[in-house]
Amino acid sequence: MIENILLSEEEFNNSSSNSYLDRIQTLFRHQLKNWELAKTGYESLNSVQVREFHFDDFVIKAQFNPGRIISSAAKVDEKSIRERKCFLCYNNLPEHQKAITFENNFLILVNPYPIFPVHFTIPMLDHLPQLIEDNLQAMLSLTKAIGENYTVFYNGPKCGASAPDHMHFQAGLKNFMPIDWEYEIIKDKKCKILFEDDETKILGCTNYLRKFFAIQSSSKAKTLKVFSKLYTSIQKTQRAYEIEPMMNIISRFEDGEYFVFVFPRSKHRPDYYFSEGDKKIILSPASVDLGGVCITPRQEDFEKITKEIIEDIFRQVSVGEEEFEFFSKSLTELIN
Ligand SMILES: [Zn+2]
Repeated sequence: MIENILLSEEEFNNSSSNSYLDRIQTLFRHQLKNWELAKTGYESLNSVQVREFHFDDFVIKAQFNPGRIISSAAKVDEKSIRERKCFLCYNNLPEHQKAITFENNFLILVNPYPIFPVHFTIPMLDHLPQLIEDNLQAMLSLTKAIGENYTVFYNGPKCGASAPDHMHFQAGLKNFMPIDWEYEIIKDKKCKILFEDDETKILGCTNYLRKFFAIQSSSKAKTLKVFSKLYTSIQKTQRAYEIEPMMNIISRFEDGEYFVFVFPRSKHRPDYYFSEGDKKIILSPASVDLGGVCITPRQEDFEKITKEIIEDIFRQVSVGEEEFEFFSKSLTELIN
């Protein structure tokens, strides 16, 4: 019964207003008070260590976060997935985990293994595979609904999602990931305008270690249309990946505009991940890492990591120059 996991209306009655953002905040407070796992998870953020690596015009942070080993080392092969109980299905949620609904087909849950000071997991009610093509519109609605305080992100089934069998987004406190504020700085220096009209701009960004496309638009319909064309462009060279073109997506809503950053990927995990001994580094890049906060769940990796290694990891998991150029060209042709 879904009712059993929804936060009761009584819990909201004490809030000063009842906006959607307030309801989310109420859920967060409720879970920290009543769910030990969440309480411990957010308390552990107080002792998280951070290192900063400075590049020209931007910064990459490394966060030593032992709680994230579950996600970073998640087994996402078919057999492992088949043999475990899906932790995003509402009937499998832990006893004290509560939720609020979003548009009747998604749930907002507090993530008990946080990276952000406030971190939500947003699964679909139905157990359906992680695929973005038909769900970007939900992602944009969500981005608009909570965009004042949160950045929303999506990890493709082979790009960091620890539950590739269950469609979900995540959201974290705005301006925690450097990309949230760096985009304004780098867009003129490191991005090329591919298309521009009154309400929409499409940019291709390189020279930022990771390559990405930025769709900036005041129109949801236009954003969806552009994304669909970008998806088609990326799919042209990535048919081999059968599920969907590999990508991570970060989206924000600000001053009436959607900002959707699409990072096409060439690889799920860098070579370091599979190396043995000294060379091994457990860093499994997903949206947050591409957003500028690299998560290292093991202390030794956190200490070992250097600017050069970060550059190499981003180079390995991003698409190459030629491929990015191909996508840009193909997208430009489809748009015009
Ligand atoms: Zn499920």
